[in-house]
Amino acid sequence: MPSDWVAPEHLFNCQKCGDCCKGYGGTYVSETDIDAISRYIGEDPERFVAVYCSRSGKKLILTQRKDGYCIFWDLICTIHPVKPRMCKAWPFIESILVDSINWRILADSCPGIRTDVSARTVEKCVRKMLSKKDRHDDQ
Ligand code: SF4
Ligand code: SF4
Repeated sequence: MPSDWVAPEHLFNCQKCGDCCKGYGGTYVSETDIDAISRYIGEDPERFVAVYCSRSGKKLILTQRKDGYCIFWDLICTIHPVKPRMCKAWPFIESILVDSINWRILADSCPGIRTDVSARTVEKCVRKMLSKKDRHDDQ
């Protein structure tokens, strides 16, 4: 029987395995991400795009190395304080609210995600984290 309410911080505990930094079609970067990461690594934004980004359709993603890992993965995320929005939000992302089965799909590739909770609890946690994040992004 799934347990009832748990706080978001008890629903996910990153094991720092790096699996989410490998493959998965790449990590999208917004203009805000590009500015923040460029500043953090002391790079001009245009050069940052040329050296560290690739194109996926019309969008920019962080380049993946030949081994499949993100260019900023080196046993840890080397840009952790300014990592892209997508990485910061993980695994509390909008697609869970579209279909809660996505939580279990994410969990298949992320050992930090708990699945012994109800879909309702997962959705509540995702909503909570997304609204917290939106408030933070507005500041
Ligand atoms: S796959 Fe999950 S547990 Fe592993 S580093 Fe990524 S978020 Fe953390
Ligand atoms: S920016 Fe950091 S957290 Fe995001 S994919 Fe790259 S190494 Fe992983």
